[in-house]
Order: sequence, then structure tokens, then C-alpha cells
Amino acid sequence: MKRMKMLPPVTWSNFLSNVNWLNTFFLVAPPALAVYGFLTLPFLRSTAIFSVLYYFFTGLGITAGYHRLWSHRSYNASVPVQVLLALAGAGSVQGSIKWWCRGHRAHHRYTDTKLDPYSANEGFFSSHIGWIIFKPRGQIGVADVSDLTRNWIVKYQHSYYGLVSITMAFVVPFLIAGLGWGDYAGGFFFAGCARLVFVHHSTFAVNSFAHMFGEHTYDNKHSPRDNFLTSLVTFGEGYHNFHHQFPMDFRNAIRWYQYDPTKWLISAFNSVGLASHLKRFPDNEIRKGKCTMQLEKLQAVNQGIKWPQRDLPVVSWENFQAEAKERSLVAIHGFIHDCSSFIEDHPGGANLIKKAIGTDATAAFFGGVYDHSNAAHNMLGMMRVGILDGGMEVESLKRHKSSNSLGYDSDSGASTSSDDTIASESEIQAIVKEYGDKAPIHQPSAYVPIPYVLPLPASERLAIVKTKPELLPSVISRVSTPVI
Ligand SMILES: [Zn+2]
Ligand SMILES: [Zn+2]
Repeated sequence: MKRMKMLPPVTWSNFLSNVNWLNTFFLVAPPALAVYGFLTLPFLRSTAIFSVLYYFFTGLGITAGYHRLWSHRSYNASVPVQVLLALAGAGSVQGSIKWWCRGHRAHHRYTDTKLDPYSANEGFFSSHIGWIIFKPRGQIGVADVSDLTRNWIVKYQHSYYGLVSITMAFVVPFLIAGLGWGDYAGGFFFAGCARLVFVHHSTFAVNSFAHMFGEHTYDNKHSPRDNFLTSLVTFGEGYHNFHHQFPMDFRNAIRWYQYDPTKWLISAFNSVGLASHLKRFPDNEIRKGKCTMQLEKLQAVNQGIKWPQRDLPVVSWENFQAEAKERSLVAIHGFIHDCSSFIEDHPGGANLIKKAIGTDATAAFFGGVYDHSNAAHNMLGMMRVGILDGGMEVESLKRHKSSNSLGYDSDSGASTSSDDTIASESEIQAIVKEYGDKAPIHQPSAYVPIPYVLPLPASERLAIVKTKPELLPSVISRVSTPVI
């Protein structure tokens, strides 16, 4: 790409020499003629209905034919269907199938780069219509269309494109309206010219609107987006994020309620045996893309939320009780919480908390007194100031260590206590066996035999709770009160 020769950007001074006059004529003449028709001719109902039908006929020639059949080979079409789509597409005056598909395959292969013929990165005007009006600034990316050159319908359409296109765009509507109900002029100005303006901008909207407005449902690496409104004016091509992710899929909209008349037409051809081998990407892959994007969005939301602190000091039962004399500490589920700022706001009344200060209130919190909500669990989490050594009052810890010791993970290297200060799982089980349902001494209100089996609050379920985290030196000095 670096070696690619690029023409200088179009400016007011080089404007005229860079215009592609033939393309410009086909983009400017139809709206001008349509306006003339609206100002000078009566607008017959039959012509109006026919114009709308012809709009769908030629537009679907592009979306079901040029795009999904020939550019992406998303299904196989019988010869009659191919001929019909080749004629209909020619009536949209957007170049031959071969030329159109070559550019479109480059658009998919080099999306948003200089090699993309209608890159959205060049701005709305350029991707909508500028790329047709002005000569290309450089060569577009390489794309293989050898499969199309072997197709005789594509070949003939390309060879006689000018004749076929003018006939389908203007002569056919002129004759149908004229021979049908005597409105030759209306057939030309309305079903021919005005209809063509709408078909043109419908297709152009896929390159501009569908790359700028909407959702990145399956991928946000590139510009294509899913947008219901764009779909309405593009025969269902507005689910463009899906399409760029799964281009071989004959659908753009995958839900039954999403507007995709192109998909419905292909399905109809299939149901009467005129089309076959409709391709669908595996649902698992589609859901995977969607899930990835949803997780990314959740992650962004998560970043703005403060979650409970994970690195907390491990505090002995005695130190917890000593500290609880000075501030409102309550042990719940192995964590020590400072409830000082919350006591008066407690919906169940201040007294319940006051009674629990210096005790293990796990059972009370988890349903003994009241089975708290997820919101209460989350709020409680924010009041954590320490982790209770052993998860509760453990007699063996008291026996093995000095009265002012902090029990924490000796692997952290910062420990001043020996390994035997930590109660192992088997020791805890032994204690549970020894005490049964009886509350241990000095632990008046709640006794939790195996704290690890208590239900976790929703916000903690996906995280591994560190029961013995590394110690933060500054916090140790604040929380632990050495007993002399
Ligand atoms: Zn695109
Ligand atoms: Zn495409």
C-alpha cells in the first residue's frame, strides 16, 4: 500500500478536472428529470403503485442478485432467477454485475482502508456518493472475480450492459405504464427517473449510513453497524455489522421480526425450488461474536463501579474484638466490617447492628434474623476492613499463637508468625466435629460451622475470594492493635 500512487485530494482548485462526468450525469439527470415530471405531469395512482413495485424489483436485483448471489455466493440460483436478477439489477444503473462485485469484494477485503473503494473513513459524503462523482484517488484493492467471468449470464450482462441498463431503467417502465394505462410520460419520469433516484440512494446508504450509524453487535474492529432504520431503506441490508462478520450468510437480519425483504425473497425462491444451498453461519459462532461484544460493554460498565477491596489484612479473633471496642466492627462470612457510618441508616434499625458489634453475625445476616438482598450484600462488601483469621472464632488458633499475632499467609514472605498459626482445612473440620452445634466460648451470637458453604452474594460469585491475601503494611499498622 505504501508504494501505491495516490492522486492529490480533491480541492476547489482541481475540482473540475477530477469529476467523472459520465457517472455524475447519471446521478444528476434522474433527479432533475424527476422534479420536472412532478412539476408538469399528473401523478396517476396506477403509475405511483407501479413506481413503488419497480423500485422494489430493481432494488432487490441489486441486493439479492449483485450483492448476496454474485458478490458473496450466499446461495445458488436457478437460471431463470439469475436472468431476472441480472435484468433487475441493470435497471438500477449501478454498473455491470462484474464491475459491481469486483468493487464490493474489495470493500469487504479492505474495509476502512485506502484500498476500500468506498471507505467510510473518507467521510460520509465520500462513501455515499463522492467515490462515484470523483475519479478514484488510488487503485482499489485486489479482488478475485474469476468465478463470475465463467458465468455466461454475468458475461453477457457485462458485454451489453449499456443497452440492457437503459432498457431496464427507462424503456421498460415507459412501455409498461404506456401500454398498460396510457401514461407513457409518467412511466418515464416517475417509474423511470424518480424511482432510480431512490434506488441509487438506497444502495449508497449501505456504504455510508450502514457504516456510521447503529450498533456494533458482533464486532467493533471495523466501521459496519447494525441499524433497523438503515434496513428499512436498503431492502434489509442495514444489519451491516452482521453482514461484514458473516458475509457468506444469505441473511443480513437473523431474527424473524427484523426487516430483511432480500432474505425473504431468497427464501421464497428456495421454497419453490428456484434457489438452493442457502448458506448460514453456525449459530454458535454468531452468538460467540455477540457475547464478546456484550462482555466488552459490561467490562466498560464495570470499570466505573467500585467493588469491595480484595487485599485486606488478616486479623485474629482477639484483635477483632479489641478493635470493636473502639469502632463498630462486625464479623460476617469471614470478613470484618466497619459499620460505623451505616448504623443509623440500617433499614432494620440501629439496634440490630449495635448488638452484633464484636460478634460473628454471619447466621443473623444470612437469614437467622433477616435474609439480606443482593444490594445489602454489595453494600456490606464496601464496609470490609479485614479478614477474620480462620473465618470465625477458632480455638486452635488461640492455643497456638501469641495473643498479639496476626495470622496470615506465610508464603507472602512478610509473615512474622509461624505456619502453625494457620488453621488448615482438616483442623477446621476437626473443630467443627468437636464443637458440633455448640457456640464456642467468647462468641455469643452466631456460630458458623463451615463458613465456606454459605451462599455467596451475586457480585462475588464469579470472583475467587482471597481468604488469605498478601498484607498491605500500612493497613496492618492501622487495623492491628498490638496487645502488650
Ligand atoms: Zn460495507
Ligand atoms: Zn457485502
